[in-house]
Amino acid sequence: MSSLVGKTALVTGGSRGIGAAIAVRLAEEGADVALTYQSNKTAAAEVVERIEALGRKALAIPADSADSVAVRAAVDSAVTELGRLDILVNNAGTGVLGPIGDLAEADVDRVLAVNIRAPFIAAQAASAHLTEGSTIITIGSCMAERVVFPGGTLYSMSKSALTGLTKALAREFGPRGITANLVHPGPIDTEMNPADGESAAAQSGFTALGRYGQPAEIAATVAHLAGPEGRYITGASIAVDGGFGA
Ligand code: NDP
Repeated sequence: MSSLVGKTALVTGGSRGIGAAIAVRLAEEGADVALTYQSNKTAAAEVVERIEALGRKALAIPADSADSVAVRAAVDSAVTELGRLDILVNNAGTGVLGPIGDLAEADVDRVLAVNIRAPFIAAQAASAHLTEGSTIITIGSCMAERVVFPGGTLYSMSKSALTGLTKALAREFGPRGITANLVHPGPIDTEMNPADGESAAAQSGFTALGRYGQPAEIAATVAHLAGPEGRYITGASIAVDGGFGA
């Protein structure tokens, strides 16, 4: 595996779960990787160690995605420390689920800031640095396309906005040879959505395969999109969801 030798990546929310799997997989493919995290310094340091053990450069940046200044600074740090930026993965995300009447305005502000504004700001900040062959990959959700439980108004709304962002980025950056794609995970076994959680059996039941996915299964698609074999894919929403949307 060496399709990304000479490339650098920034993965937001790369300290745990899907983001950590993406960060490590991109390093396995040869990329140097910067990752952001919100508060879990220990987990971020562990991912950095795993990447360095692969012989790649790694950098952990504390940056709350709700803070636009921090998001811009993270992009700048990645470029400064790694020398360039080829792959931006907008992975950090948050969800507040519940009946619409129970959601506070502060919940709305935070979810929209982390799930929508941060990917926009990161893409804007990265724009000046991305060159031909670069890519922006955003992590959406199967709940952008199919909402099977009540309580998803805020989270589903935030994730579906990424479709418009991704298509518009593809159009805007296409002439520069830069791609933009959206990956919609189904239920994936992470601390956000553990495969032994309360609603896990029901979530598995909504997939065609009848099981949770693993973070590595999302990372594999991200690596494909970032690599040379994914260069003709842009503006796409790709479900990696075990058939949740089928
Ligand atoms: P986890 O909760 O397991 O991990 C979240 C990661 O993102 C951590 O590294 C965390 O940092 C970081 N993070 C969270 N909030 C912020 C923030 N405000 N600023 C910066 N970093 C932040 O989540 P998952 O891996 O499950 O989810 C990753 C993405 O995949 C999200 O966008 C989520 O919506 C999406 N997704 C997940 C699904 C699932 O079933 N797991 C299904 C569909 C989509 P720290 O370690 O510091 O807390």
